[in-house]
Amino acid sequence: MTLTRKFRHLILAMIFASIANASFAEDRLKIVASFSILGDMVEQVVGEQADVTTIVGPDADAHVYQPSVADARAVADADIIFVNGLGFETWSDTLISESGTNASIHVATEGVMIVTIDGETDPHAWNSLLNGVIYVNNIAATLSEKMPAKADMIEANRAVYVDQLMALDTATKATLANLPANKRTVVTAHDAFGYLADAYGMTFLAPVGIDTEAEPSAQDLAILIDQLKADGAAALFVENITSPALVQQIADETGLTIGGRLFSDALSQSGGPATSYLAMFEHNLETLLTALKGN
Ligand SMILES: [Zn+2]
Repeated sequence: MTLTRKFRHLILAMIFASIANASFAEDRLKIVASFSILGDMVEQVVGEQADVTTIVGPDADAHVYQPSVADARAVADADIIFVNGLGFETWSDTLISESGTNASIHVATEGVMIVTIDGETDPHAWNSLLNGVIYVNNIAATLSEKMPAKADMIEANRAVYVDQLMALDTATKATLANLPANKRTVVTAHDAFGYLADAYGMTFLAPVGIDTEAEPSAQDLAILIDQLKADGAAALFVENITSPALVQQIADETGLTIGGRLFSDALSQSGGPATSYLAMFEHNLETLLTALKGN
């Protein structure tokens, strides 16, 4: 065999190997989830059977996110895209249309019980676990349709996961039922917990509304501080996705204590206390209870 022929064989072998790799890769669906909490839900349901990419990662603020070139590429290559909807991802429509993707787009909040705050739709629907169950059922229905060969596995994963969410919902209701009325009002940086408040009988006040884009006016902040001085609140909490400065200012002016950090719109980095939706909810509940019982 001449060197040229050997070389040709090598090239052909490389081409066939790359074709084989490509067809193997095509067997696995590429799924994009818009933010970390939704990405975890998708992973819990699909397991190892697809590649899941999350756009807005841990500890990041999806309200004001600026997509990167890598995000556009992931969206362009995706087969399925899951978004929260309800106005949460203000950037997703542009990203999806500009990427030219052929992916099917699915809104995970389809069918949730919507909470409004000051007349606006609150997008943070995952902060009620029963809504979380609706997200998971929507995700599983989409995945079963797109991956019919894996439908049994998807259904098994869904059933186990929904049981866990329902059990935590029942436990949360039982735990919070014992909380006295004067321990039920707390303050966070932005209005991310309307669904938790609604589902579990709490009141969450915040200097910033349902998205993090707007700074509160000095007047709004003064009104909130006056209200807290008059009516009190059981504790203040900073969030993982927003600056603690405003909450610190409220603490300084009211004398109320900061009770810890809640994970509002994103999971924690790996190794942190909130690396999954379930862990995040448990961590938030524990943080709330520790601060409220300590007072
Ligand atoms: Zn938010």
